[in-house]
Amino acid sequence: MSNIVVLGTQWGDEGKGKIVDVLTPAFDIVARYQGGHNAGHTVYIGGKKIVLHAIPSGILHPGTLCVIGNGVVLDPRAFLDELLALRQVTAVDETRIAISGHAHLILPYHRVAERLSEEALGERRIGTTCRGIGPAYVDKAARRGIRVCDLLDPAELKEKIEANTAEKNVLFRALGADPLDAAAIVEEYRAYAASIKGYIRDVSALLESQMRQGKSVLFEGAQGTLLDMDHGTYPFVTSSNSTAGGACTGLGVGPTRIDAVLGVTKTYTTRVGAGPFPTELHDETGLLLGRQGDEFGATTGRPRRCGWFDAVAVAYANRVNGVDKLILTKPDVLDVLDEIPVCTDYFYKGSRLDVFPAEPPILEKVEPRFQTMRGWHTPLRLARVWTDLPSAFLDYLKLIEDLTGAEVAAVSTGVERSDTLFRDDRLAGLVDLDKVRAAMAAE
Ligand code: GDP
Repeated sequence: MSNIVVLGTQWGDEGKGKIVDVLTPAFDIVARYQGGHNAGHTVYIGGKKIVLHAIPSGILHPGTLCVIGNGVVLDPRAFLDELLALRQVTAVDETRIAISGHAHLILPYHRVAERLSEEALGERRIGTTCRGIGPAYVDKAARRGIRVCDLLDPAELKEKIEANTAEKNVLFRALGADPLDAAAIVEEYRAYAASIKGYIRDVSALLESQMRQGKSVLFEGAQGTLLDMDHGTYPFVTSSNSTAGGACTGLGVGPTRIDAVLGVTKTYTTRVGAGPFPTELHDETGLLLGRQGDEFGATTGRPRRCGWFDAVAVAYANRVNGVDKLILTKPDVLDVLDEIPVCTDYFYKGSRLDVFPAEPPILEKVEPRFQTMRGWHTPLRLARVWTDLPSAFLDYLKLIEDLTGAEVAAVSTGVERSDTLFRDDRLAGLVDLDKVRAAMAAE
């Protein structure tokens, strides 16, 4: 049985949720290793739209165990709301979800702190979702965070909430914001404890014992590589490690347990929030990609910035993650175009750069060079098997492979599970495609 990481190779919103949902029938466990409920993975099943935030996308398959690792920050209220919404479409109970006791909690003061910080930054704001995720990671690093396991000890929980709230209130008052009432927070979080305690597990031990029994795990990344706190376009990043290494630290799993890394890559590029974006389109074509691709944030509804495929960025993502194979999403969005440019190189101060510069001051100034491919003018969604794909699209795909150094093993051509084409046996030994196809056929 193989254990694989599935993650995004761009700035998020690559369609990871759909791909994880499609591949889940081949795995026993789906484990999320970082981020918070700022992630928004959209999955369509039989035309019905389901948006997942904190709970792994594997939850939509009965029988799959979904794990939330220590690397995740959890807002208990948002988690419980998500559970309620999910229960309308699938049975979810404590046998299906395990939450690490070492995951850090998001508290109300984190949301206030994030809003104040974004307001103070003005023009230089990061464009975060203001859900308190960044400040929760700040407290984790500052060793004053409150963890899920603290919910099990009411006295400890009270003491920590009171100390932290008192400290935050000093800052809030100084910035002209209303202080928060620690007693109310204690009461609220003690109530969450009752609802959440049944889900709390030692996730590292659980995964190890499951893997020893031959169970397979899909490690699910949230956000994208270029938003990784260390390898992304810092400071325009998320506050955790979305790259493959995060799967180990965010779940307590050794690297030797991971067999492969699959990179989900959108056929063009999008970015939400601020930060450099070399291939961004500021014209009618950019708006067209946004409209055709329905590029509006699943969590915030914000329009995403759109641009051409950036092979320099994806080659970088393939390197820092050790991507074995790519899964290409949303090429159908480009169906209508006559010509499709692909960014092949960056030039900076007149010279070609050999590597992707993740530093915003440089990335803002690079001059992208493009190779233009002809469009395919065929509705890709109509293709049911790989050999149905038009040659112009296969040329485009080959260029992506050549430039990024990774093979494309599957293509998604639409939002539904059945809009997924696998390329011969390129995932052999990693994903049991018979199980995936059987689940698709059973729908
Ligand atoms: P994630 O966070 O990476 O899962 O991505 P999002 O859910 O934020 O955004 C991806 C969007 O693209 C979702 O609305 C998906 O339903 C949709 N999507 C995924 N794959 C495809 C595809 O191949 N074609 C089209 N047109 N849409 C897709």
